[in-house]
Amino acid sequence: MAATLLSFRSLDSWSMCKPLTIGIIAIASLLACHSANAQISRPTLYRPQLFDVQHYDVDVRLPDPAKRLIEGKVETRISWTSRAENGEYMFHLRGLSIDSVIVEGKPREWKTYGVPADDTMHHRVVVPGMHDSGSVSRVSIFYRGTMTNEGGSSPWGGVQYDDSVLYALGVGFANASVGATQYWMPCYDHPSDKVTFTGRFTVPDSSWLVASNGLESPMARNVNGSVTYTWNEQRPIATYLLTFAAARFRTFSLAGRVPHVFYVLRRDSVVSAKSYRLVPRMTDVYSALYGAYPFDKVGYYNSLKGSMEHQGMIALALSVAKSGDSANVTAAHELAHQWFGDCLSPRDFRYAWLTESFATYSECSWLEALRGWAAYLSAVQSKARSYITQISKSEGVFALEDFPRVAPSSNYPGTIYAKGAVVLAMARALAGDSAFYSALRKYVAKHSYSTVVTEDFRAAMAPALGDRTDAFFAEWITGIGWPKLNVDQVSENGVVQVTISQVQRQTNPTWPIFSTLPLNVLYTRSRDGSAIVDTIDAVMYPDSDGIVRFSCRQLLGVNAGGLVRSLVEIARTTSVSSDNTLHAVTYTLAPQPASDDVVIQRSDASMAAKVQIVDLRGVVQTEIAFGQGASQLPVGLTDLPSGAYCVLISWSGSQIALPMLVTRGE
Ligand SMILES: [Zn+2]
Repeated sequence: MAATLLSFRSLDSWSMCKPLTIGIIAIASLLACHSANAQISRPTLYRPQLFDVQHYDVDVRLPDPAKRLIEGKVETRISWTSRAENGEYMFHLRGLSIDSVIVEGKPREWKTYGVPADDTMHHRVVVPGMHDSGSVSRVSIFYRGTMTNEGGSSPWGGVQYDDSVLYALGVGFANASVGATQYWMPCYDHPSDKVTFTGRFTVPDSSWLVASNGLESPMARNVNGSVTYTWNEQRPIATYLLTFAAARFRTFSLAGRVPHVFYVLRRDSVVSAKSYRLVPRMTDVYSALYGAYPFDKVGYYNSLKGSMEHQGMIALALSVAKSGDSANVTAAHELAHQWFGDCLSPRDFRYAWLTESFATYSECSWLEALRGWAAYLSAVQSKARSYITQISKSEGVFALEDFPRVAPSSNYPGTIYAKGAVVLAMARALAGDSAFYSALRKYVAKHSYSTVVTEDFRAAMAPALGDRTDAFFAEWITGIGWPKLNVDQVSENGVVQVTISQVQRQTNPTWPIFSTLPLNVLYTRSRDGSAIVDTIDAVMYPDSDGIVRFSCRQLLGVNAGGLVRSLVEIARTTSVSSDNTLHAVTYTLAPQPASDDVVIQRSDASMAAKVQIVDLRGVVQTEIAFGQGASQLPVGLTDLPSGAYCVLISWSGSQIALPMLVTRGE
């Protein structure tokens, strides 16, 4: 039996629900059945369906993993969301042949809609009869073939066999459908429909292991020498988070609140054990921040292609697993997805920011737990810098929600990672730690095992952000761009008047003026006319015109200090001179964050200058001379503890301050 290809037929015109009789019955029937010919959801547009998949029971044979061959049967249990006559079940399957479709024990014809380039290419089968709302039907699909993937120049989502591992990555970067489980099993592959899952994977012999979602049952040996591994995911799971990996793996476990199990090749087992060493601690850190770990186990397997947050069985890039870096922010990122993405899944992929921004922010919160506050600030700062200086330039400037997907963007652009992480860090600064994390925990608890849209997160944050909630979302989440700041200082009678204005609209008229910008400023102030000087580390917010104004004795830094790093670009800084002339010398500091030493570079080497490194209490920790004629100055930092500092450079009556972060590993 072969599928009929109806590529260009409108979805609306097929299988209309027929009114049965006249009068009230006919009207009732029309109302009840009006969605029987519903359009399928697009990856970026959720549409309610007449069916709701409850469970996939997947039984597959993988007779030759290296050839990516599969023979399978998927029994799908659906329930009807409203009364339906001859309702249709829609499913996705790419690159594999359907042998037959059995509906309630009887073979049925199915039809294929669309071509592979379509984001909604799918198949439909009619489930005959009248179905009451809530009643259950069963559809079994038998299929076979060679499993494929999203293709293109660097295929990612779908099924891979490389480095002697056969594995499935649940989403693609460039495929129209985004979801990529449809490359190995027939399913309604849309994140809105969460299910439970049983997977039985039969491999040639017991030298093969298979990792998958949920908990494992004992292995079964078959008469022909093959073996079958059975996995059960009892917690609701979106299809894009399903996976399997088959290889001659070794496994090891780590103690934790839930089982932690790792699938690695023998060759990589020693270094992988080092790279994964702190994962149980990550689980504890996130459980404290976001609520108890939501699934029955934590699992990882090493994959050559990259990392993916499959529910309870994460794929981790082999290069990361082989790094031996126990801090392993990539493992932490994928683990944080178990809360943001897996337990709370995006209703459709417009809301992918609700997963990636949170997982990327969580990299910073993991480093905070592991190495302290300076490491957190430094991680946020480096994400802000990479967004402004690299990502926005290479993929364009767009909003976190409902972003473009065509090149140079993709299904998972860097914007929703780096910009999103900094935006959440700013929300934390606005709300305060206690209110921010309390709102996050309530958000997770309220929507656990379900799906979310931006509005759900907005509603959860409203108590924490208060009056600023709507403006914050309009400026940072649905708005585009970032504040570009001019920092101007005028000195009068020993008092410096600081004016920090937003100038982004001079070149980008559609960018907002940001009223919800938390701006960390560091400055000194004389105490009530006395000779005592205090150092002030403060967060300021712009006035209604977008300008931050204050006076001080000496400005030490903007987007500096020890409180928050924001998504801002300092477009221009004017330095104060004793004769009120502006100096055009520019100083830069690299690398940032620094660990052992830092190099100060300047545009004009004609004068001698004094360099002081000042801590957040205003105490000078180091003082060195920047000699006349030198355009760069290396400064050793090994005596300084991790933290935020200010580098104060003074020359012929002028002074400039540069923020500096020092971070060191464990
Ligand atoms: Zn991610």
